[in-house]
Order: sequence, then C-alpha cells, then structure tokens
Amino acid sequence: MLDVKKRIQVISALLEQGTPESTSYAALECRLAIEYLCYERMQMALDLASYADMGGWQPNKVVRAVEELVDEDITSLVTLSIAREPKLLPGQVLSLAEREKLEYHPIGTQAPLDLKKLTKLWNALASSALHVQVPKLRTDHLSIYGDVSRITEKVHQCLTELRKIGDGSLLSNGFGPEVSITCYGCGHPVRRRAERLTDKQTVSCVNPDCPESYTVEKVAVNDFTFDRRLVFFDCVDCGTLNNLPWRKVEKMKVFEVSDVACSGCNVLHKIGAQLGIVKAEVTGTGD
Ligand SMILES: [Zn+2]
Ligand SMILES: [Zn+2]
Repeated sequence: MLDVKKRIQVISALLEQGTPESTSYAALECRLAIEYLCYERMQMALDLASYADMGGWQPNKVVRAVEELVDEDITSLVTLSIAREPKLLPGQVLSLAEREKLEYHPIGTQAPLDLKKLTKLWNALASSALHVQVPKLRTDHLSIYGDVSRITEKVHQCLTELRKIGDGSLLSNGFGPEVSITCYGCGHPVRRRAERLTDKQTVSCVNPDCPESYTVEKVAVNDFTFDRRLVFFDCVDCGTLNNLPWRKVEKMKVFEVSDVACSGCNVLHKIGAQLGIVKAEVTGTGD
C-alpha cells in the first residue's frame, strides 16, 4: 500500500522550499501519488477483471471500471472486522441474526477515495505545473515554470485529500460468489464476480499476452456460460473451418495484413482489416 504519510512529508518539504522548481516538483509528486492510489486499487482487482476490459489507463477510468466490474465499494470507507464463531454442532449454521450478535474486532479500514476531486486535481496539477503555458499572443510572456501561487494552491488541495486517506490500513475488493472458467487459449483461470456479470458482456482473459475473450450468456441467477469470441474463415485449399480470436482482429490496423496458417493443411492465408461502408440503421418511425 502507498505510504501516504511519507508522500505528504515529501510534498510538504518541496512546498516549503518555495522555489518555482520545487513547487513544480511537488505538483508532479501529487500526480504520482494520485495515480498510485488509483492503480493500487485496480491492481487488487486484476484477478477478477482484465486490464483489457478497463477501457483506458487513466486513473479515474480504471477505478470506475473496477467499480463496475468487481466491487462498487472500491472507493468507499470499509472497515473489516472478524469474530470467533462458537462451537457448532455438525450441520448447524448460524443465522444472520446470530452472526450479528457475535463479538467483532476491527482488523483494518479502507480509506475512501474522492475520485471526482482527485481526478479534477490530477488534471489541474498538470495544466498549472507540468506544461509550459501556450502563448496566445505575439506579446505573451513565455515562462519555463507555471504560476507558483496557483500551483501551490493546487498542491495544498491535494495535501488535504491525501491527509483524509492517510489513516487507511487495508484495501478490499469486496466479497461475493464467483464464476470461473479455464481460458481456452492459455489455461489461465478467468474468474468473475457473479453479481457484476451481465448478459452479453464481453470478458477478456486476464493474461495480458492472451488474445482470448468471451461473451457471457446468463442462463439463470448466478449461472453463466462463456462463449469464445471468434472470427471464422474457410481454408481455400482444403475447406477446413478455421478461427481466430476476435481480439486479434480488433487490434489490427486498417489495411494491416497478417499470415494465418490453416489448422488442416497449414497453408498460409492473408488476413487483413479493411474500411467498409454500412448503411446506417433507421431508428424510430418518425410519427
Ligand atoms: Zn487466456
Ligand atoms: Zn487448409
């Protein structure tokens, strides 16, 4: 876990120096701290969601994706407590009311993240400190550093946010029943939290080197099937029906061509991506 108190010390010491150089560096340290805080929550969820399904690398995007795919409380204040169970008779199960009456001891707290505020600061710190201001007029003054008072204000706001997080002692990616299959392509387990799965959702393998992905079909409550997402083509020589993982095709650039060997006769086929025009679907009747 990020040592938030240490980061606060480093940033405060830089701010105290008060030079344009140290203030700019303090802003960079703030950005790094924000990124680390978001990425450590994402990393914890990476056995239950694939980085390929996060939709981007930006700190706010990956945290929002984890909320959607793994645990809606990933940015919330969570206190984890444990209790000793009484000796149970064979087959005896405690009811919820009985469980609630047990003596619990807190073992740690996950600090909340104000993602909206942190994202705003992450952007403001970059625009005020990490770029030379673009001149709009011929007479504008170019400066290697940004406005120190504005950067200082943003760094102070970031320190306020970091102090709210400083007492967190654990990170949790939640609890709940899971669905798991073995990836067809690499043998890696593909695990997902059942309550976060939806019908027709695309799920990619967690292995970053594996191009396999699956379409989720909801059969019943907490009962799902995973269908491989494939592109099919017939071999022009022997007629064998071949397939390619969809993600391999999705990653291809327009007009890129790659060789794919037929699984029946080994003849090479050139597979390429091309621009196409499709007539747009008309929605609504216009009445
Ligand atoms: Zn895989
Ligand atoms: Zn063939």
